[in-house]
Amino acid sequence: MTESYSDPEIAAQAENGQRLNLLGLPRRRLAEVLEPFVDKPYRSTQVYRALYERGVTDLAAMTELSKDLRARLARRFVIRSPEVAARHRSADGTEKYLFRLADGATIEAVDIPDGRRRTLCISSQAGCALACSFCVTGYWGGGRNLTSAEIVSQVMALRDQPQAGTHGLNLVFMGMGEPLLNLDHLRDALDILTEQISRRRITISTAGVVPGIEALARWRRRPRLAISLHAPDDERRERLMPINRRYPLRDLLAALSRYPLEARERLTFEYLLIRDFNDAPADADALVRLLSRLPAKINLIPLNPDPVLGADMRPPAPSRVEAFRRRLKAKGMTATVRKRRGDDVSAACGQLRVPDREPRGRRSSAAQTRQMAATLRPALGPSRR
Ligand code: SF4
Repeated sequence: MTESYSDPEIAAQAENGQRLNLLGLPRRRLAEVLEPFVDKPYRSTQVYRALYERGVTDLAAMTELSKDLRARLARRFVIRSPEVAARHRSADGTEKYLFRLADGATIEAVDIPDGRRRTLCISSQAGCALACSFCVTGYWGGGRNLTSAEIVSQVMALRDQPQAGTHGLNLVFMGMGEPLLNLDHLRDALDILTEQISRRRITISTAGVVPGIEALARWRRRPRLAISLHAPDDERRERLMPINRRYPLRDLLAALSRYPLEARERLTFEYLLIRDFNDAPADADALVRLLSRLPAKINLIPLNPDPVLGADMRPPAPSRVEAFRRRLKAKGMTATVRKRRGDDVSAACGQLRVPDREPRGRRSSAAQTRQMAATLRPALGPSRR
C-alpha cells in the first residue's frame, strides 16, 4: 500500500522506509497517518487516548484494538520515547530527570512540588546556542531542537509518576533551550498538551526572540508568556544575554506591547538578581520605568551560583533581595521572589546541563555572537538591525 502524507516530516520518514513514530503527533495528523490502516475513523481517537491519556508505550498494549489491527500497525508504526537515564531527588522534594534521546543527546526536566501545586520545568532544545552568561546550559553550548515527541514525553514521564497527580499541574518551558527557536515542534506538543492541561497553566519563557513572540501572538491556543529580562538597560543586558544585540530592548518591548493578552492576564518578566550588578535601588526604579506601559509582573530570581559561572556571579544577600522587591512594590509593580528549589541536585534555574558532552566553555562575546547568529539566521531570517 502506498500512502501520501501532507506533512513533509512524516512523508520523509515514510519515504526512507522508517517506521513512523506515533508519539508527538497531534490529533489531526495522527488521524491522517492512521487513515489508510484503520477500518473506522474512531480507531485513531482510541490510539490518541491510549498514547496521551494512558501513556501506552507499546502498540501491543492497545487492547481496545483488534489483534490483527495491532499487528498491522506495528509493521508501519512505533511508539518511541526517550529513556529516563537518571533521577536525582533534592532534599526539598524537587526531582530532576535526565533523559537520553535516540541520537544519544541528553536533556533534563524538573518536577517541582509545592503544596497542592506541582510545576514541571520542561526542555525545548538539547543544549542552547544563546549563551547567556548566567546559565549553565548556555555554557555547554548549542544542541538541536527537540521533536514534539521528545517534548511531550518529558511531560508524560514526570506526570505519570505514581506519587504524583495531574491536579494543580503547571508546565513551564524554562528548562534547556529557547522554546521560540523551536516553534513548529513546540506547537505540535502544545496542541497535545493543552487538551489535558489548561493553556493558562502553561508558560513559555523566552530570552526575547522577537519573531518568535510575533508568531506566538498569532496562535489561537496561546500559553502564558514570560520574558527573561535580567537588566533594565541594553548595555548590561547585552553582557548577560548576547541575544540583546540582535533584539535590543526597544524592539523587544515594542513586540510585547502588541502581544494579545486576555482580561487580567499579564506578562511575566524574570529578573535575575546578581550581586553588585543589577541589584541597586536605582535598578529597581529603572525597571519600573522600563515596564510602566505594559501589563507586567516581575519574578525576582536570586542568582543560583554554579562553579562554571565564575566567582563574580553571586546572588545578593537576602535582605537586599527583599529591599529590591519592596522598592518595586512601593512604585506599584507586582513583584515576587522565586523560591530556590532543587539547587542541591543542580536542578535550580539556570543550572540544567548536558553532563556527558564537552562544554563549549566561556567564549569571547564576538564568538558568542557568531554562534548565536548562525543559530538564529535559518530560523528567523535576515537581521532586523
Ligand atoms: S537562559 Fe535560556 S536562552 Fe539563555 S542560554 Fe540558558 S537556556 Fe539558553
